[in-house]
Amino acid sequence: MHPFDYAKPTSLAEARTLLAQTAADGVVLAGGSDVLRRIEEEVIRPQVLIDIKGLPELRGISFSVHGGLSLGATTTISALAAHNDVRRHYSLLVKASHQLGSLRIRNRATVGGNICVALPQTDLPPALLCYDATCHLLGPEGERTVPLSECYKGTRQTALEPGELLVRVTLPAPAAYSYGAYHTVRQGGQTTVVGAAVLARRASGPSTEWRIALAAAAPYPLRAYEAETHLASAEPGAAMVEKAAELAMRAAQPADDIRASARYRRSMVGVLVRRGIEEVIEQLSGRGR
Ligand SMILES: Cc1cc2nc3c(=O)[nH]c(=O)nc-3n(C[C@H](O)[C@H](O)[C@H](O)COP(=O)(O)OP(=O)(O)OC[C@H]3O[C@@H](n4cnc5c(N)ncnc54)[C@H](O)[C@@H]3O)c2cc1C
Repeated sequence: MHPFDYAKPTSLAEARTLLAQTAADGVVLAGGSDVLRRIEEEVIRPQVLIDIKGLPELRGISFSVHGGLSLGATTTISALAAHNDVRRHYSLLVKASHQLGSLRIRNRATVGGNICVALPQTDLPPALLCYDATCHLLGPEGERTVPLSECYKGTRQTALEPGELLVRVTLPAPAAYSYGAYHTVRQGGQTTVVGAAVLARRASGPSTEWRIALAAAAPYPLRAYEAETHLASAEPGAAMVEKAAELAMRAAQPADDIRASARYRRSMVGVLVRRGIEEVIEQLSGRGR
C-alpha cells in the first residue's frame, strides 16, 4: 500500500489549517467505510489522511420545533436512526437509514460520508433531498451553505472545493405532519440497485407538498421535480399516480452496470415511485387528504 501520513486534528480550526495546507494531497477520513478500501486498493493515493472523527464541532444532533434539525457531519447512521426527534419528525430518514448496509456499516458510516462519497446508490441522500437539506461547508474562504440538491456534480464529484469540509447538514422545521416511503431493489441484501423516496407534507392550509428523490437512477441522487409538481396540482386518483410515476421515469438518467441495465432501472423507478406514492396516500387518507 502507498505510504501516507495520518493526522487527527482536535479542533475545527486545526482541521481547517491542515486541509488548506494539504488541499489536493489530503483526504478526509470519517467512518472510513469507503475511503479506507479505496486507499487499500490504491484507487486513491493521499499524502495525508485527515481523521475528522475527533472534532467536537462535527458531532451531534440538535433539534428545535421552529429551527429544524442539525446533523453533525460525523453523526453515524445508527445514531441518526436512534434519535428520538428524528424518529418523530423526520421518519423518512429513519426508513432510509434502516436500509443502509449492515448494522456494522451503520455503526461506522457517517451522514457526511454518505453525502460526500457522492455515489448514485447511497441511501440517505434521497431522504435528505426530500426534506430540502442544506450542506454547511467550511473551507479556507470561510463557511458557506449549499442546498444538497446543488451539491452533486457527478459520480464521486461534489460542489466541495479542495480544502473544504462538510461540517453539518440542516433540515428546515418539520411540517405539521408528513409521511414518507422509501422503497429499493437491493442486490444481495446490500447495495441499492435502484431506489425511490417519496414524501408528502402539509404545513398549514389545505395544500400538500410532495417530494420524490431517486437512488441509483442517475450519476448521483436526484429529485424528480416534474413528478412532484404534478402531484401537487393534479386531481387525486389513479391517473395522477400513474402520470407522476411516468414523469419520475423520465427524470431518471440511469446507467448500465454489472448490477442492472439502464432499462431495468428506469422501469423500476416507475414501480417504486408508484408504490411509494400509494403508500403515502394511504397514510394521508387516515387524516383526510
Ligand atoms: C459492505 C458495505 C455495504 C455498504 N452498503 C451501503 C448501503 O446499503 N447504502 C449506502 O448508502 N452505502 C453503503 N455503503 C457505502 C458506505 O458505507 C457509505 O457511503 C458511507 O456512508 C460512507 O461514510 P463514511 O463515514 O464511512 O465515509 P468515509 O469512507 O470516511 O469517506 C467517504 C468519502 O467522503 C469524504 N468525506 C467524508 N466525510 C466528509 C466530510 N465531513 N467533509 C468532506 N468530505 C468528507 C471522504 O474524504 C471520502 O472521499 C456500504 C459500504 C460497504 C463497505
